[in-house]
Amino acid sequence: MNKHFRNLVVGAGLSGATIARKLAEELNQEVVVIDAKNHVAGNCFDYRDENGIMIHKYGSHIFHTNNEDVWSFLKRFADFNQYMHKVVAIIDGIETTIPFNFNTLYNVFPKTMAKRLEEKLLGRFSYNKKIPILEFKKQDDEDLKYLADYVYEKVFLHYTTKQWGVSPNDVDGAVTARVPVYLSKDNRYFQDKYQGIPLQGYTKMVNNILNHPNIEIRLGLKYKDCNEKWDRIFYTGAIDEFFDYKFGQLPYRSVKFKFEEHDREFYQQNSVVNYPCNYDFTRIHEYKHYLNDKSSKTVIAKEYSEAFEVGKNERYYPIPNDTNETLYAKYKEEAEKLENVYFLGRLGDYKYYDMDKTVYRALELFNKVKEE
Ligand code: UDP
Repeated sequence: MNKHFRNLVVGAGLSGATIARKLAEELNQEVVVIDAKNHVAGNCFDYRDENGIMIHKYGSHIFHTNNEDVWSFLKRFADFNQYMHKVVAIIDGIETTIPFNFNTLYNVFPKTMAKRLEEKLLGRFSYNKKIPILEFKKQDDEDLKYLADYVYEKVFLHYTTKQWGVSPNDVDGAVTARVPVYLSKDNRYFQDKYQGIPLQGYTKMVNNILNHPNIEIRLGLKYKDCNEKWDRIFYTGAIDEFFDYKFGQLPYRSVKFKFEEHDREFYQQNSVVNYPCNYDFTRIHEYKHYLNDKSSKTVIAKEYSEAFEVGKNERYYPIPNDTNETLYAKYKEEAEKLENVYFLGRLGDYKYYDMDKTVYRALELFNKVKEE
């Protein structure tokens, strides 16, 4: 109906694919999706290696959501397994689970001490409560203060310093609050209603989202090399780069993965093992756990965090704090002055979105734009 209306979507990750599909399908408009990389799916790109193991190239991606709209949208493009993520952590050589919960408490302390702490916790807080570590640290009871300092030091301090380059006090509290102290015996990392891994991988899911007659994909193409006339642009790249860094660069953390192939069936008992007290990597991923891939070999990746530098590595995490929010607000103000250019996604919005939030943001933006 409106095929002469031309949309450009910059970035073929989850945000770009979602908005492209909605425009193509519901408005019947032409959509060209470009990506500087030579593959779709952005940082949730995965592929099967020669051993038949599905590798998440940019680190483990575990889908989880409570959002019905997001779930029903994605379910059209992929069947998911019922994988429920758990994270094993090595704390002073003891293998336990994260988030720190009652099971962790009994794993790391002698039984009588754990029992005393458990009783104190339940005397003060309700069962199942999730408490961000920075809040948990504000204890007046001596035993609970000891426990809070222990958890801060053993779970958060070194991991956060490795991951963000600063201590937990110097990153936004929302970051460490993603992994709260959990007064429960539930060892899952997420409690969302819907959780799982797409059975044929994220790349296939994103390809399915993009598979529509009104959508054209052009890979290996940068926005600045795409000088055509567009009626609307949806930009999922970094907002500061779009404006040529005119107010300065928005900081990001990057990640480096050192892949290893091992000639044995399993390297570790779990998909992700965190090392909050030891080594200079933060965690080790073992990919075959996600889809229960069968192979006599296994592939792991050690994850190292580092500062993002233009031209050297890739943006993974916006760094939420007041200074960066203020800088982002300047770019956002510039963005709002533009007509028919919209920003979305982790890099476009400079927000630490999970995959489901990214999809939701695109669905919401579509609902807004279609009314315009
Ligand atoms: N975190 C930590 N120790 C852990 C796990 C997480 O200190 O063992 C903190 C750390 O600051 C991390 C944040 O909690 O960046 C959020 O963790 P999450 O696993 O959600 O990060 P992601 O998987 O997005 O990298």
